[in-house]
Amino acid sequence: MRFCLCLLALAAVSASAADLHPGETLRGKLVVRDGKPPAVETAEHKLVILDGDEPTRKVLGDQRLNGFEVEAKGRFTAPDRFLIDPIHTHGLLVHQGGKLKMITYWCDTCSIRSYTPGPCVCCQRETTLDLRDPDEP
Ligand SMILES: [Zn+2]
Repeated sequence: MRFCLCLLALAAVSASAADLHPGETLRGKLVVRDGKPPAVETAEHKLVILDGDEPTRKVLGDQRLNGFEVEAKGRFTAPDRFLIDPIHTHGLLVHQGGKLKMITYWCDTCSIRSYTPGPCVCCQRETTLDLRDPDEP
């Protein structure tokens, strides 16, 4: 029995070692505050600063997303820094109603969807945050 437990422990250790390679997932609560870099607070209450390409940074500056449970795909560039995969890969997803959702922005007037916050590319009106099921077309 003791031997079996050791094997289990070994398996757990090698599984977490595999997580250190590219294609990591960071989970936690998104913290968006004025004047501070966006970060994720992990379950261990550790703050990990987020970075990404320009559109991803715009999304990370959206105060409406503050406090959401998120799942980011990318890699650690330092123990407390995480680089999110490019926005077209949908590297940043949020939890809502027990589901993982894509972050999108919707203009009601033009029925145009974008993946960064800000004015609509067509009518320049402010778009609304619209969290969508990744399986939806
Ligand atoms: Zn519009």
